[in-house]
Amino acid sequence: MESMLRDLAAFYENLDQMLQPTKKVCGACGECCRKASMLRVYPLELQNIRRFVKDEYAMRKFVDFSNNKVVKIWGNVEGLCPFQEGNRCSIYVVRPYFCRVYGHYNYRGDNLPKGCVYFSHSITYFDKKELPLYDDLNSLSQ
Ligand code: SF4
Ligand code: SF4
Repeated sequence: MESMLRDLAAFYENLDQMLQPTKKVCGACGECCRKASMLRVYPLELQNIRRFVKDEYAMRKFVDFSNNKVVKIWGNVEGLCPFQEGNRCSIYVVRPYFCRVYGHYNYRGDNLPKGCVYFSHSITYFDKKELPLYDDLNSLSQ
């Protein structure tokens, strides 16, 4: 497991480098995370996040969130990521693949909030296979 997590860390580093050319300074408005009602997260990524997170309750919520279940957070708000704190991501350094490529890549060209800094600077994609290092991530996760 340790070596797989090390490989994942190296993978994220490569990915972040590849995304540099489209990097903007994120406005940290938090809209994208508020908008997300589900998130695809690989089991290996969950392991990685689990090591970082001390709050087991939030972790359980996140597992449900990433399984696309309806998640009730803090009582009555449904479907928001439990790791969003205010406008920020509390697990930013270990955030999963799909959070990393968001903004740089824009599903069908219409998946960004209007005020997002990536708006009109992102790369449109139609299939996950078009995303950077996507096959590598799948092989890593097997
Ligand atoms: S993990 Fe972080 S970046 Fe991803 S949806 Fe949750 S708060 Fe947003
Ligand atoms: S909507 Fe855009 S600017 Fe706002 S936090 Fe998300 S990526 Fe950053």
